[in-house]
Amino acid sequence: MTTTIGATVLGYPRIGPRRELKRAVERYWSGAIDAPALHAVGAELRAATWLDLRDAGLDSVPGNTFSYYDQVLDTAVLFDAVPQRFRALGLSEVDTYFAMARGHDHAPPLELTKWFDTNYHYLVPELGPDTEFRLVGDKPVAEYREARALGVTTRPVLLGPVTFLLLAKGDRRLDLLDRLLDCYAELLRTLAAEGVEWVQLDEPAFVGDRSPDDLAALRRAHERLGALTDRPKLLVTGYYGDLGPALDVLASTPVEAIAVDLVAGPVPALHSLRDKTVVAGVVDGRNVWRTDVPAAVAKAAMLLGTAGEVAVSTSSTLLHVPYDLDAERSLEPGVRERLAFARQKVREVVHIAQALRGAVDAGRALGVTPRRDDHVRARIASLRPAHRERAPYAERAAAQQARLGLPPLATTTIGSFPQTSAIRTARADVRTGRLDEAGYVARMREEIGRVIALQEDIGLDVLVHGEPERNDMVQYFAEHLDGFATTEAGWVQSYGSRCVRPPILHGDVSRPAPITVPWSSYAQSLTDRPVKGMLTGPVTILAWSFVRDDQPLAETAAQVALALRDEIRDLEAAGVRIVQVDEPALRELLPLRADDHAAYLEWAVGAFRLATAGASPATQIHTHLCYSEFGEVIDAIDGLDADVTTIEAARSKMEILDDLRSTGFGRGVGPGVYDIHSPRVPDADEVVSLLTAAVRAVPGSRLWVNPDCGLKTRGYAEVEPALRNLVTATKQVRASL
Ligand code: GLN
Ligand code: ZN
Repeated sequence: MTTTIGATVLGYPRIGPRRELKRAVERYWSGAIDAPALHAVGAELRAATWLDLRDAGLDSVPGNTFSYYDQVLDTAVLFDAVPQRFRALGLSEVDTYFAMARGHDHAPPLELTKWFDTNYHYLVPELGPDTEFRLVGDKPVAEYREARALGVTTRPVLLGPVTFLLLAKGDRRLDLLDRLLDCYAELLRTLAAEGVEWVQLDEPAFVGDRSPDDLAALRRAHERLGALTDRPKLLVTGYYGDLGPALDVLASTPVEAIAVDLVAGPVPALHSLRDKTVVAGVVDGRNVWRTDVPAAVAKAAMLLGTAGEVAVSTSSTLLHVPYDLDAERSLEPGVRERLAFARQKVREVVHIAQALRGAVDAGRALGVTPRRDDHVRARIASLRPAHRERAPYAERAAAQQARLGLPPLATTTIGSFPQTSAIRTARADVRTGRLDEAGYVARMREEIGRVIALQEDIGLDVLVHGEPERNDMVQYFAEHLDGFATTEAGWVQSYGSRCVRPPILHGDVSRPAPITVPWSSYAQSLTDRPVKGMLTGPVTILAWSFVRDDQPLAETAAQVALALRDEIRDLEAAGVRIVQVDEPALRELLPLRADDHAAYLEWAVGAFRLATAGASPATQIHTHLCYSEFGEVIDAIDGLDADVTTIEAARSKMEILDDLRSTGFGRGVGPGVYDIHSPRVPDADEVVSLLTAAVRAVPGSRLWVNPDCGLKTRGYAEVEPALRNLVTATKQVRASL
């Protein structure tokens, strides 16, 4: 008997509805449980997922979507792409796997990087000309058997061979394709022998711009795998966007099915799809909104004349959405009705597939609309270009210098100080009611006082309050703005065992009351030195939230920007002379295709300027960016028009300064002089040599000295000596100017 794909999803969350996997993995790392106990938790989670997906009525249930850490790492290990430094450790299989993810003794881990334009991060396989791929693992086969033993037939999901190579690092890695294809062929044969009917190969790398060589590799791969005689049927996916020319390529190969993301891209009308099954990704796999079922049915129906057969699915894997809306008990009505998490989306897919077959009615579109705020809308409508313009930089710089009187090579930090367990306990206690509001404020003030005194003692020039009141730089603002909801259990995997709970931006955004002003003005009242107000920028707030999809992002960003603009005005009124607006996600949200960059940067930069341009010329606006590969956004950084930009640079040895110089960037810049991502304390000499290089590129009056990110994940044992060394080094370099 052969089955069609019918209703399916392309992937599913795996961390556990209550983060069971996170807990088990972390307990395993700490030695609290052994490998069999860890594997038992994995097996239980897999079983629950398979049974749930089958019972929900999916015709085809994805398999091999589980991972103890990351699916790219799984693929590397499956094909034996294990760098020598990990083999040399002589660890067990599972410990070698975790060593690659987290590092071990003198073996630094694989690099962690962003997975396409999502907030998931994968481990970058390291390949070289002498990488010998061998099929050494059997995870996809073992999980297929495991599901079958439970009575569930699954469709093993594999990372596609070309995407695997493109995501890896190593020169000329496409040269390894043929060897890798031998391994995929062997795996497909094994799966066929096991009785597997369908296999899914994910090739999301092809929703971005790809070279002719990449496309040729895609063709070669799927022609070769398609030509195998003893193989399962192949479903190739390319999600998070439009496959563009890759769709023609795939359509001309012998693969039986292609999944297209119809949330991010258009409905294709290719003749060559006539003998294929086209899997219509009509339920948004990346966002949390309920699907307009009649519209989705109509969209899928557009394929009926084009495709040999039409199946229904999510637009992408569901990895990026929380498990289950039913776990939320306190979402406000009016918002809740508009939401669907992974479990609900599975049921939507089933409903749409049935409606497409005419078996049930599509029902009616959802009647609930987003919260509307006419005051905010009127403000946006009345905006003029001047709302995004500040006075010329020279004028601002003079006014700021007159007011602040800072020395050359001014020293500062990025905002947060270590989040001690006392701080976390206080935040948790005020949530549960164990600590009253007054008691909480007293504790936070005590902490702010300590952090201010420490910074004065160290001798920093521009101080921060330390952000003790913030659980997370986006969630904190979401909790204080109207138009956002936060969830209790809406966790999604960010990487490995690390999960985040993105806020849900569901309606028009406004600020009911000042947010940071009481903390910042209190901090400023304790010292004569300037204290920086600390805000998260509009782009980052959008990037790390689930955002309404009923209006352009530009409009939503402008609403957030207006709220921040008001906050800056209130900070100024409270005597704060410097405000930092963090945009660590500016580059993260960059669209996958170059054609879309300009439009994105225009609204992103525009939102930042709208947030900051209401500040008086004498108020110094800082921004902080969190990455070092600036290539594509360097003009945008200039366009932000911030008075001071602090950036990650320690690991790239100040190369960023040359890049900035080449754009004519002429404002203040603070290249991070030490890497806070590592517990290592830099000595003063090391900082001196970086600063000596920096003063050659930037005049001292515009050069700032700071760590390369916030200090919240570090401990005082490292932070204090590191900052003291930073100040010592600065004094030394200043003296030589
Ligand atoms: N101000 C924030 C902090 O210091 C910035 C964090 C970030 O760049 N991710 O924590
Ligand atoms: Zn940062």
